[in-house]
Amino acid sequence: MKHRVAVIGGGIAGLAAAFWLEHDHGISDVIVLEASDRPGGKMWSVSADGHILEWGPQGFLDNAPDTLELAEAAGLGAHLIRASDTSSDRFIVRKGRLRRIPLSPLAFMASNVLGLGARLRLLGEPFARKHPGRDESVFDFARRRIGEGAARILVDAMVTGVYAGDSRQLSLAATFPKMAAMEAEYGSLTRAMIAKARAARRTGASSGGPSGPGGTLTTFREGMGALPKAIAAHLGERLALKAPIRSMSRRDDGFVLHGEGAKITADAVIVATPAYAAAAILAELAPAAVEPLRAIPTAPVTVVMDSYEGIMAFGRPVSGFGFLVPGTEPLGILGCLYCHDIFPGQAPPDHLLLRTMLGGARDPGSINLDDEAIRTRTGTVLAQLFGRAATPARTWIVRHPRGIAQYTIGHLERVSAATAAARAAGVFLTGSFYRGVSTNDCIRQARETAAQVAASFA
Ligand SMILES: Cc1cc2nc3c(=O)[nH]c(=O)nc-3n(C[C@H](O)[C@H](O)[C@H](O)COP(=O)(O)OP(=O)(O)OC[C@H]3O[C@@H](n4cnc5c(N)ncnc54)[C@H](O)[C@@H]3O)c2cc1C
Repeated sequence: MKHRVAVIGGGIAGLAAAFWLEHDHGISDVIVLEASDRPGGKMWSVSADGHILEWGPQGFLDNAPDTLELAEAAGLGAHLIRASDTSSDRFIVRKGRLRRIPLSPLAFMASNVLGLGARLRLLGEPFARKHPGRDESVFDFARRRIGEGAARILVDAMVTGVYAGDSRQLSLAATFPKMAAMEAEYGSLTRAMIAKARAARRTGASSGGPSGPGGTLTTFREGMGALPKAIAAHLGERLALKAPIRSMSRRDDGFVLHGEGAKITADAVIVATPAYAAAAILAELAPAAVEPLRAIPTAPVTVVMDSYEGIMAFGRPVSGFGFLVPGTEPLGILGCLYCHDIFPGQAPPDHLLLRTMLGGARDPGSINLDDEAIRTRTGTVLAQLFGRAATPARTWIVRHPRGIAQYTIGHLERVSAATAAARAAGVFLTGSFYRGVSTNDCIRQARETAAQVAASFA
């Protein structure tokens, strides 16, 4: 079978790349080759007993035009659901207790989220030492600018929330490029935020926090899995499931993909698998890409979804967005989302649906815990934080042994080396291992990759 473009990997990145090729460039002779028996990769939702359960992403921020456009074009515009107004309260654990994170700077300074010394140190941000001129960890950046206390608690929690990562290992330039750009442009995050707030007041837009413009967590009525399902339905027979690709070679008339089924040839190939799988696929065709791809680590994540009957199951309301646990708190979990409050349609009436995450770069060994140990650990921590134990009526556990790509120091150089080696062999790389792990990042990168493929035909 000869195709114009073959896309290897049918997670959201690969599916979006195939979709954009047709939508933006009229290239419809595309085949997506997915190893497993369903589309979507990590993005998958399951309905059970009145719950919508997310295997991977809980949602996306609605400030990324590409994702909203993709949703609209895939026929899901009317299915978009934004987080409820009641779920705006966010919490962080400090000294074994939940603390609400105040939204205004003044209220924050008056709060006990950080100790007094750490709060006062925040005021020194505009006078921080200059950037050292090399790739810096998120922790080192934060310690330099806002002090060790805020770095260990607030910033570590933020890194946990997005990457399940270790802030001392991750590269600031790769993980929070907007923050790096704010420092480069304004010399200070405080000055950058003031300038952004002024600009936002002028235009009426949301200025957001220091990591970028704000947005509201958004999903679909049927959960995030609706998006890969809709794209898969649109692709029809152009999506091949149970079609793992092991390697590739090149002939005069295009690329040959070697898998388990019929031989597939294509004029262009997009590899949208995780980097470790891309390394194996490219071993013969682009050997120089292999080492940099293999050097991108992943962090395991276990997702525990507990459903409780009765909104007072813990003897108190559980409302808000959820909480994060910084590395300073040895609780054995990364955080918890209050799904029943964020997206009330995801739990039956009068139920709590809590989604607790374990593992990450901080505690990779917990991926090996059995279900009973996971239940015990989650139940113990929730009882400690909510003040009373409660027994869930149902629990669902999903393990992602290679959950989230970790952009460690030197990541951008590795990505440039791998991308250059792949491009020299005529292959395009896209997906969550390169320039952003979020759903929005994957969809944006897929669009950029589709444009590069189309340009290569011109
Ligand atoms: C627990 C968890 C929670 C998350 N929460 C959020 C969130 O709330 N918001 C957000 O924006 N992001 C979130 N993310 C991140 C986001 O979900 C992922 O980064 C994104 O879905 C990854 O998409 P992908 O297509 O790059 O990779 P994947 O989803 O991993 O897809 C890659 C696909 O390639 C296939 N494949 C692998 N090898 C081969 C081969 N040899 N041949 C053919 N196919 C192959 C795989 O089977 C898979 O389907 C979360 C991630 C996890 C794990």
